[in-house]
Amino acid sequence: MPSRPEVAALPVYNAGLSEDEVRQKYNAPHISKLGSNENPYGPSPTALKQWENLTRQMFRYPDATASALRHALAQITDMPADHIMLGNGSEQIIRLICEAYLSPGDRVVTVLPSFGLHMIWPEMMGARVDAVSITAEGRFDLPAMKQAVQAAPLKILMFSNPSNPVGCMMNAPDMLELVACCPPDTLIVIDEAYYEYAQGSPDYPDATKILPRQERPWLVLRTFSKAYALAGLRIGYALASDTGVITTLNKVRDPFNTNMAAQGMALASLRDRAHMRDSVAATVAERERFMLALARQGYAPVPSHANFIFLDVGHDAAIVAERLLRHGVIIKPWREKGFETCLRVSVGLPVDNDRFLHALAIETGQTDDSH
Ligand SMILES: *Cc1c(COP(=O)(O)O)cnc(C)c1O
Repeated sequence: MPSRPEVAALPVYNAGLSEDEVRQKYNAPHISKLGSNENPYGPSPTALKQWENLTRQMFRYPDATASALRHALAQITDMPADHIMLGNGSEQIIRLICEAYLSPGDRVVTVLPSFGLHMIWPEMMGARVDAVSITAEGRFDLPAMKQAVQAAPLKILMFSNPSNPVGCMMNAPDMLELVACCPPDTLIVIDEAYYEYAQGSPDYPDATKILPRQERPWLVLRTFSKAYALAGLRIGYALASDTGVITTLNKVRDPFNTNMAAQGMALASLRDRAHMRDSVAATVAERERFMLALARQGYAPVPSHANFIFLDVGHDAAIVAERLLRHGVIIKPWREKGFETCLRVSVGLPVDNDRFLHALAIETGQTDDSH
């Protein structure tokens, strides 16, 4: 049965190996899962106390508009509750944006290397995606991005800040300059999946504070999957320039897209943000130790504003990744053209990061002179 040509042309999404698959296939006693940027410190213990209560309500449909959660998010984000929409992961919101706004032939600009779905969902709708490569130093290429957004009619500008997978960030003046170059009706989508990790970086802009300076439609995406450690529950949210955008997205959204347990745990997690902040601080401190250790092993990782590190290992990263699996270490080798020698490793617990460092030294023949 042939699919739509747009679908036939799509790659199969690479979600990586599960812990169980690696344990079985490689017979590894310890698994260090550093491929999906999860938060190893886990969700708030006080939020977890809600879990039993939530399970008792599972015979009910969830609140279709996630009203309580939207109002809690409104307080924290300083956005009106009717400018907020919840998604079954922010990934789903990326898809809804594409389904609602893109027609075949429309143009989308993003960056390369990219978060896969920033390209896959637009392509599914038949849009043309122009991906602007980051610079050799691992920065957003502002002049090239400005040129790309001006080149032809542009429906959507979409990228993550900080960037997944590179970890670099765009500051406020650059973002304003770039957005000013877009046609006035271009939808600006800033994916802030790693917002909480970048907040402590000097000059990191909260896009909801700077995008309103220009009269245009925009969406900022955030998630409970990373800093709030609820990846398995699937819940993320969009903050929008106006209620019109939310109304449009709601038309293509499944009515009960976020489940009751996810809504409840997200709400409870917002009541204990101290736990989230502590785990972010621990990860950021560990990230700096990890970076120094990599530098000692002779690597030059790009400075990261998120909970992962992007690293050029100088060999086919897919082969390195396969070898690391024998040590029980899961990371993500990059497959996009021009970045095949790069891998992305999440900042996990110190013991897992050390296992990665050790395995990398063995498998790439680089010795750590601190030992
Ligand atoms: C992890 C990630 C997401 C996915 O978040 P979910 O809320 O789990 O769907 C979205 N965008 C980027 C850039 C990410 O890295």
